[in-house]
Amino acid sequence: MRSVFSSAVALGVLGFAGTAPAAIDVVATTEDLASLTREVGGDKVKVEAIARGYQDPHFVEAKPSFILKLAKADLLLVIGRELEVGWLPPLIQQSRNAKIQPGAPGYLDASLTARILEIPTGLITRAMGDVHPFGNPHYWLEPDNGRRIAQAIRVKLTAMSPADAPTFDARYADFDRRLKEAEARWDAAMAPHRGLKIVTYHRSWPNFCERFGLEVIGYVEPRPGIPPSPRHTIDLIQEMKRQGVKILLVEPYFDLKTPASIGRATGARVLVLAPSVGGEKEITDYIALFDYDIKMLVEAIRAGGGR
Ligand SMILES: [Zn+2]
Repeated sequence: MRSVFSSAVALGVLGFAGTAPAAIDVVATTEDLASLTREVGGDKVKVEAIARGYQDPHFVEAKPSFILKLAKADLLLVIGRELEVGWLPPLIQQSRNAKIQPGAPGYLDASLTARILEIPTGLITRAMGDVHPFGNPHYWLEPDNGRRIAQAIRVKLTAMSPADAPTFDARYADFDRRLKEAEARWDAAMAPHRGLKIVTYHRSWPNFCERFGLEVIGYVEPRPGIPPSPRHTIDLIQEMKRQGVKILLVEPYFDLKTPASIGRATGARVLVLAPSVGGEKEITDYIALFDYDIKMLVEAIRAGGGR
């Protein structure tokens, strides 16, 4: 007993003196959170995402490999607002990792410090299958929320590894500076199109559209998470014609059949737009996500999808 204890101490001392401390092992539920963690953590963190950027984050297939990742994680980052409720809780439970259970220090819900839109007033319910019962969980699609998430990550990583605080502070400041520069670029690109009316498939874009001055007048889904119905589609087509809507945004994981028929009926352009890092191969990080989406959107608008 005593010898085991002594050698463990000796190994610990050797490890501390002889090599760099191990990186903080972070698992993020989405590639957006993983990207923001890399921005702040640099080589002080080792980050893996669970959902791929081209997958619907509400519905992710729970693979056993995810449990293994979670079992060794020091920190789990989640989007929250029940985005992951359909697949994450059993994975966390089966990981048997006390550090990352909800409420534990190694569990960070990024929605707690973000600006959340569409918070229901009155009774909270998932009635009729609405998958946004606690407000809109796609809030990362607003640069200032990216900044808020990065800030929450900075605070958390600092608490976990106080000695690395100067690194996290400097990296956060650098990200903030690059994000501000990028926002000026995005604002300039979108300025001529402010007030443009669009339709989206899922309610993924309220933060994005508010930030960049687009008005969403309807959705292909009757309610978030509910597939299109013929009645709803007919109403939507009429409303799009009435308001002259020429852009229909579709997330990469939805069937294009209904959007294509709406496009034919209204003359609107159907634009598949990535809501997440990794949604297209050139979207390698959080800032590249907005660069890509805004470039695609402006091209579609100029090609006849509006003003
Ligand atoms: Zn959603």
